[in-house]
Amino acid sequence: MRTIVTGGAGFIGSHLVERLLALGHEVRVLDNLSTGQFANLAAVSGNSNLVFHQVDLVELESIQGAFKGVDAVFHLGALADIVPSIQSPLAYFHANVHGTGNVLEAARAANVSRLIYVASSSCYGIPDVYPTPESEPVRPQYPYALTKYLGEELVFHWGKVYGLPVVSLRLFNVYGPRARTSGTYGAVFGVFLAQKLAGKPFTVIGDGTQVRDFTYVSDVVEALILASRSEEAVGRVLNVGSGKTYSINQLVTLLDGEVTYIPRRPGEPDCTWADISKIRNTLGWRPQVLFEQGVAQMLANIEYWREAPVWDPESIRVASVDWFKYLGEKHG
Ligand code: UDP
Repeated sequence: MRTIVTGGAGFIGSHLVERLLALGHEVRVLDNLSTGQFANLAAVSGNSNLVFHQVDLVELESIQGAFKGVDAVFHLGALADIVPSIQSPLAYFHANVHGTGNVLEAARAANVSRLIYVASSSCYGIPDVYPTPESEPVRPQYPYALTKYLGEELVFHWGKVYGLPVVSLRLFNVYGPRARTSGTYGAVFGVFLAQKLAGKPFTVIGDGTQVRDFTYVSDVVEALILASRSEEAVGRVLNVGSGKTYSINQLVTLLDGEVTYIPRRPGEPDCTWADISKIRNTLGWRPQVLFEQGVAQMLANIEYWREAPVWDPESIRVASVDWFKYLGEKHG
């Protein structure tokens, strides 16, 4: 296959690129390196099947050429994180909605045989049903969630109107080596591993009993690749999760270290938990990596987080001011 991976220099994208190359596919990475890093592709940088295009998805003319002759497009390129999305909603709109529109137009012009969109489980907001099926209502709580969901809407619209063979995977709390640690606060693994390296306590939110469906990155990559091959997948939205939950207290026990407690964040769910029956039935996909194994892998790769920011209760408070301001009680 000739493939495109947008956001291929990011956390999940770089794992997908490695796997596609290992399977013998040609990979064209489209990444503007705004949050992705070329270093994430270090292990495959000499591979002759890899072509890197430093381009911005918001500029249609600059991305079109790369789509020529491509079979499958994996669209992961997006802005992530909650707080910056609250501060700069239009930047998120441009990157995640307009950018997706451009990717769809380029894919349509090139007549690609599959486009796989990476969506976010944050679209469910605080769901009524656990485990949460794809049929649950969509209730985005902040611009990141909204723009990723709008991107998904575009994808299905292009499927409907232009017959583009599309599929969308809604990912739940992905973790693994190279999990992103940008300057912005978020993503618990990067926060905790940097704290562990620095000998600082883990900043546990609330009482740590909240649970997440933590999904290991290699399982996500497998789902993406299966989605690119399955005819059954076309036109569907599929959750990708482990189908299990672990509390933050359990995570802290596995990571082993001191703990300090910080306030709960407004709008944050007590639970994320994917109903994965649809992806099991559609793709025959099953998660393979147990949480304990995944956490052990993170600890084995902990040096990656040596350069990551070390957060403490005060710096988290400062970084989260807009979170509390806009998502707090007064807005219900
Ligand atoms: N979390 C925590 N301390 C932190 C950051 C996160 O206890 O410093 C918890 C948070 O309450 C949530 C989980 O870790 O239950 C995952 O948080 P993350 O921001 O990674 O993802 P999300 O909340 O969007 O699911």
